[in-house]
Amino acid sequence: MLLDYHIHAAAHGEYSYTWSWIEQFLNTARSRRLIEIGFAEHDEYSSRIDFELLEHIRQENEDITIKIGLEVDYWEGREKEIRQIVARYPFDYIIGSIHYMDGWAFDHPDYKDKFDSMDLDDIYQRYFELVNSSVKSGLFTVIGHIDLVKKWGHRSIKHNLSYYIKDVLNNIKKSDLTVEINSAGLRKPVAQMYPSREILEIMADMRIPITLSSDAHHPSEVGVGVIEAASLAWAAGYREIASFSRGSRIMLPLVL
Ligand SMILES: [Zn+2]
Ligand SMILES: [Zn+2]
Repeated sequence: MLLDYHIHAAAHGEYSYTWSWIEQFLNTARSRRLIEIGFAEHDEYSSRIDFELLEHIRQENEDITIKIGLEVDYWEGREKEIRQIVARYPFDYIIGSIHYMDGWAFDHPDYKDKFDSMDLDDIYQRYFELVNSSVKSGLFTVIGHIDLVKKWGHRSIKHNLSYYIKDVLNNIKKSDLTVEINSAGLRKPVAQMYPSREILEIMADMRIPITLSSDAHHPSEVGVGVIEAASLAWAAGYREIASFSRGSRIMLPLVL
């Protein structure tokens, strides 16, 4: 049983919700044997979501379960605004993601040079401090691309990833949150899943639930890398994946 919980139909504002556009996402999902997909737009483009259309498409396509989530940018001080955004609709799940470090869009290709002029240990420390705050905020159901800071292949030589992420994982466990395995990293310079296998094995030992995602920004990307993500999860010891309905987690068997 495979699913893809991180799909951007509006991408970065380039596309609109129409019946034929959304249907293309469903068709790719079918061809990749997904039983469930979740649209999770960036909150910046949430005004583009046509909830009525999705509801209608959901009723007309009973062979595939359609969920509606949202990927929300977290930064310190934004909590009140986020609370208002997520209250606008009974979303099935909310992905909390860090795309900005103190105003720096570190995952954007135009701004990645800053990695060369800063201490990588400082960057890693700060990034995971922010992930930690997002976990502790209580605003999210799923933590998005948890080690995104590695996207361009920059590594701190001082410590390995597990050192920086330890506290975050403890707090995720305490708050009973879910972490996505996001395959987009495979298509980026780092050429690894978010999180890497090393982290996934620690998470499996801690029994932290996972879900699967492609971070598709186009119909052709739906389900890409999800089989690889599921295989990695299986190898790390996982036998279940999380699905969500109106904020409640439902565990499904992981079947490759
Ligand atoms: Zn993201
Ligand atoms: Zn995304």
